[in-house]
Amino acid sequence: MSDLGKEYHLAGAMVRKVQEQYLHNVPPSFLYPNAKSGEIKALEPKLAAVDMGEDRDTLVVSIHTWLVRTPDHVILIDTGSGNDKERPRNPSFHHQAIPFLDKLRDAGVAPEDVDFVINTHLHVDHSGWNTVLRDGKWVPTFKNARYIFPRAEQEYYSSAASHNDVNIPSFGVYEDSVWPIIEAGHADFIDSTGGPFLDRFTFLPTPGHSIGHMSVLLESDNEAAIFGGDVMHHPIQVERPDLNTVFCEFLDQATLSRRRVLELAADNRAMYFSTHFPGSSAGYVTRDGEKFRWSYA
Ligand SMILES: [Zn+2]
Repeated sequence: MSDLGKEYHLAGAMVRKVQEQYLHNVPPSFLYPNAKSGEIKALEPKLAAVDMGEDRDTLVVSIHTWLVRTPDHVILIDTGSGNDKERPRNPSFHHQAIPFLDKLRDAGVAPEDVDFVINTHLHVDHSGWNTVLRDGKWVPTFKNARYIFPRAEQEYYSSAASHNDVNIPSFGVYEDSVWPIIEAGHADFIDSTGGPFLDRFTFLPTPGHSIGHMSVLLESDNEAAIFGGDVMHHPIQVERPDLNTVFCEFLDQATLSRRRVLELAADNRAMYFSTHFPGSSAGYVTRDGEKFRWSYA
């Protein structure tokens, strides 16, 4: 059975979700360790059925890639967690065997068709399918693609300055999912100031969740969309932009970037393509006085 996402047509492009997996039964107290007891439960009436498990006590989190087709290019934004990766401390992502590339083919795209792969940041669940294991070696999955990495992320995770320890979401990821791309000569880098990319994209610096996190704006014909990466993980953060997740590394900056993206999405009526919201993972942010509201599309 195919579980291809809806096709969205806007800004002269087609956007479609290619699902890697869902994480079910995520305790809110794990994802949002700084939320006070009862605060998340109080938001439950604002959340959609797809946002939570049937028990209405746990959260559902999606992991997927956004496929964007423009008249000239095939682009993937974020690449899930990948197969065969050694993630002993992260059982959800350890030694996976997910038919993700078959799902991409179901969406009409063979790996060799991909022109650009964008990683909003270099955490474990955003760069996994950058590489596949061939004869014991990690090689680029998309052999005709240029891979676009935020330069600050590459510099940080390749350096001793990063907290490249076993507890962070990027441990081991640089070695098996980023360095092999650079070594093969497939990588290009976006400076921390962001800026225009191809004919209708702009990189928006949204640091905080990680050091050089980038969101991607798609804009043409008076229509806009934002691919927000991990600026938010769940619609809970549209209601409560002050809440950071357990995976956010630079908390004050993460909160500022989240507010900025919410304002941008609401004030420009831009469709928001989330990297972890469940359901369709896409929708609209609107203002409601001082607050923001989320609706799926
Ligand atoms: Zn993530």
